[in-house]
Amino acid sequence: MTHLTLQAVTRRFGAAYAVDSVDLNVPDGKLVCFLGPSGCGKTTLLRMIAGLETPSSGSIEFAGADITRVPANQRDFGMVFQSLALFPHMSVAQNIAYPLKLRKTPKPEQARRIAELLELIQLPHMANRPVTQLSGGQRQRVAIARAIASQPKLLLLDEPLSALDAKLREAMQVEIRLLQQRLGITTIMVTHDQREAMTMADEIVVMEKGRIAQVGKPLDIYREPVSEFVADFIGLGNILPVTYDGAGAVSLPGGLRIAVSQAARVPESTNDIRLLIRPEDVCVKAATDAAGPNRLAGTVTFIRDVGASLEATIDCAGFTLTAATTPRETPGLALGMPVLAELPPHACKLIAARAVQ
Ligand code: ATP
Repeated sequence: MTHLTLQAVTRRFGAAYAVDSVDLNVPDGKLVCFLGPSGCGKTTLLRMIAGLETPSSGSIEFAGADITRVPANQRDFGMVFQSLALFPHMSVAQNIAYPLKLRKTPKPEQARRIAELLELIQLPHMANRPVTQLSGGQRQRVAIARAIASQPKLLLLDEPLSALDAKLREAMQVEIRLLQQRLGITTIMVTHDQREAMTMADEIVVMEKGRIAQVGKPLDIYREPVSEFVADFIGLGNILPVTYDGAGAVSLPGGLRIAVSQAARVPESTNDIRLLIRPEDVCVKAATDAAGPNRLAGTVTFIRDVGASLEATIDCAGFTLTAATTPRETPGLALGMPVLAELPPHACKLIAARAVQ
């Protein structure tokens, strides 16, 4: 069992709580992302798991043992941080060999392992190349190979792709994910990029001001966010203030009634709720279509057409909706055009409003 369990883990800096009473279970072999805006405590939480920071209170257990106060170098975890810190004066192979040397792994075993890792990261012919002569993506792969060289039971990644350009970053996301799945190594990755978390994670831990706002599978969090903060942070969303009428419908600003499905959860504080509908769930119809329930008249005020997908901003007296569609689905859509925006009841979620700051 290599299960990681955090109980009420807290880190204060002076009077400020960087991490506030976090409980978390990280299942074996999974990739878990800590996701949240800058300053929400992701890195501090990861550093406590790594042993680079000591909790003010709470406990961290790994494989059944309390490691809360075990120093980093005795935890046997692999780490890759934002600043890669490969040794610039060393070759690729020497960098990968470094943790093996520290452990006094016998030379033949080191050579075997380096060859294996070079195959794994698809750089088999680059063993002797100085790391300064590698591309950003290649360096990233070497950093990961070095982190997993000594077969750690836990791999910790802190924004490992943040220095890469968008295209390479997307390619590396897939590469790291495939590698992680092939090795079955339990991995925790910090990111503030929701798309990256959605692409890579088995589970996402959304953090807000040092606390966990929600934990779940990426699509569950996307479809059933527990709050306005989570809904807003994960993906694009139309978030509208509404009042609940207690009979399966809500009223929008201006009094328009919108039916919501039975399954929609009504937050306990029914006074302060929001209607969430994702752009891909908003159906754009011709203004000449029959009016009907959940169909709102509006005008197209902006179109972002990038070929494969199309995003339309629709002004509906008093609020604005974003609809995601494709040029094929809505041919002829043009600026200034009157349309009907249909909000299917099953796609209308009710969530608690963000607390006033
Ligand atoms: P980012 O995405 O910007 O890296 P983060 O979510 O990783 O942010 P942390 O770096 O964990 O956030 O910081 C959480 C809070 O704790 C911040 O308010 C930060 O200023 C504070 N903090 C972190 N380290 C220290 C420190 N050594 N001393 C004082 N305050 C700190």
